[in-house]
Amino acid sequence: MENCVFCKIINGEIKSNIVYQDEDFVVFTDLNPKAKLHYLAVPRKHFATLAEMNETDSTMLGRILAKIPTLSQKLGLQNGYRLIINQKGETGNDAGQEVMHLHIHILAGERLEM
Ligand code: AMP
Ligand code: ZN
Repeated sequence: MENCVFCKIINGEIKSNIVYQDEDFVVFTDLNPKAKLHYLAVPRKHFATLAEMNETDSTMLGRILAKIPTLSQKLGLQNGYRLIINQKGETGNDAGQEVMHLHIHILAGERLEM
């Protein structure tokens, strides 16, 4: 997708610190970390929100979710972690989704308050 910062990271147009990748998704460190460890797990396929997913996409997202725990040692998640999806809605953006390419925040490395 043109003008999508995460598509550009995935295709190498924009540099990032990629820590894991496979055929489904790429994981890189967040530019503006909100916790000691802050990664973004980003599907290679561009779609903006959960609302745009088809059945194949949901299967793929399921594989991504199942993969994250297996990356625990590599990413330093042994003490637990928080996954967050900020999702723009039909009539507003209360969660503040900034990048319109679905992504899962992985926050870890310290005790997280709500
Ligand atoms: P969200 O508000 O859920 O859309 O989060 C977007 C996240 O992408 C923010 O935490 C940003 O810090 C992060 N971000 C934006 N541009 C980049 C980039 N070029 N490399 C790494 N992280 C980025
Ligand atoms: Zn994209």
